[in-house]
Amino acid sequence: MIVLVVNCGSSSFKYQLLDMDTGKPLCSGLVERIGESSSPFSHKKYAGSESLSFKKEDSYADHSAAFQAVLAMLTHPEHGSISRVEDIKAIGHRVVHGGELLTRACVVGEEEKEKIRLLVPMAPLHNPACLQGIEVAQTFCSHAPSVAVFDTEFHSTMPPRAFRYGLPQKFYTDFGIRRYGFHGTSHKYVSRKAAEFLRLPPENLNLITCHLGNGCSLTAVQGGKSIDTTMGLTPLPGPLMGTRCGDIDPAIIPFLAAKGYAPAEIDRILNKESGLKGICGLNDLRDVHAAREKGDARAELAFEMLCYSIRRQIGALWACLGRTDALVFTAGIGENDSELRQKCLQGLERWGVSLDQAKNSVRSPEARRISKDDSKVQVLIIPTNEELEIARSALLALEKDGI
Ligand code: AMP
Repeated sequence: MIVLVVNCGSSSFKYQLLDMDTGKPLCSGLVERIGESSSPFSHKKYAGSESLSFKKEDSYADHSAAFQAVLAMLTHPEHGSISRVEDIKAIGHRVVHGGELLTRACVVGEEEKEKIRLLVPMAPLHNPACLQGIEVAQTFCSHAPSVAVFDTEFHSTMPPRAFRYGLPQKFYTDFGIRRYGFHGTSHKYVSRKAAEFLRLPPENLNLITCHLGNGCSLTAVQGGKSIDTTMGLTPLPGPLMGTRCGDIDPAIIPFLAAKGYAPAEIDRILNKESGLKGICGLNDLRDVHAAREKGDARAELAFEMLCYSIRRQIGALWACLGRTDALVFTAGIGENDSELRQKCLQGLERWGVSLDQAKNSVRSPEARRISKDDSKVQVLIIPTNEELEIARSALLALEKDGI
């Protein structure tokens, strides 16, 4: 069964074609700067452990043009892996915000599109792009059902004491202001994989999953369910991130407003000019490390703040869980940065976390344990696979609907 996974941004179109009989990707790619005079298109075809890359630069006026180009690439005799568009049996769409209206992956019809539209104020940059992806898929691939899979879904199990903010009741009832959480497909995937890796039933496991990439979020997972997470109404709170501020005192916002900053400008600064970038001018952690090596004190502080803020969140979620069986690291930073992992766990030896330095420093794309054999709390690296999780959720939703 072939499933296409689509992740639309306001000017980008990311995709992966998967063979769900094996769970392996067949092709993946990204079209960027849609609507501009030149749109880079990078595509990969996977053949066993090899991958063949293909890049071109063209102009795609909108998502519809980009999607047609993607379909042509997927069916291309040399670069593609399917002979006909009809070989695609389902399309899984990553939708950022499902709010309280959509808490399960669902086949998208007019009613579901309307609900995603109603949630645009919650995710003004993301949900409109997701809707565009759904519209073009339904136009040019009408034979394959479109299934929406929500970033917020996994966190819909949080109890009110975790998801409500200490604000007047009407902000929740009238505006839906509450903690929703994000990166849900990643937290769901790695928590299930962690249970498989440990050969323990998920129902008996308490985990803290740490998705550390450009965006960072941590989740307390109890018995396979999210009970609390660090992101909130938006993906801004939590530890420091590449360009997002993470947790700050909310009073900073009216303070800046009184200084003359407009709401849109404050929003841009908190999302795009803060975090690692705000502290040292660099948002990619590899660049931060290169600057540290040259003795850059601001880069050193940014790295220290990142590790400290993650440790702080681990401590908070640990207290919420009461007992933690394993810590799981994933995403670009979590999977690759041994120094960061070691610093995040510094001082947690008394809590039963005993990191094996040799195992921690090994680079590998595989799921692995990096704690000592006698560590009370396991530390795991589980490479995330959001596309596979979206495709899987899409097939489960179709099965549920008897499609
Ligand atoms: P993601 O959002 O999951 O793609 O992760 C992006 C982040 O991962 C960026 O900050 C990268 O600098 C970081 N990253 C990727 N590879 C490495 C690496 N080998 N060492 C440290 N950070 C890395």
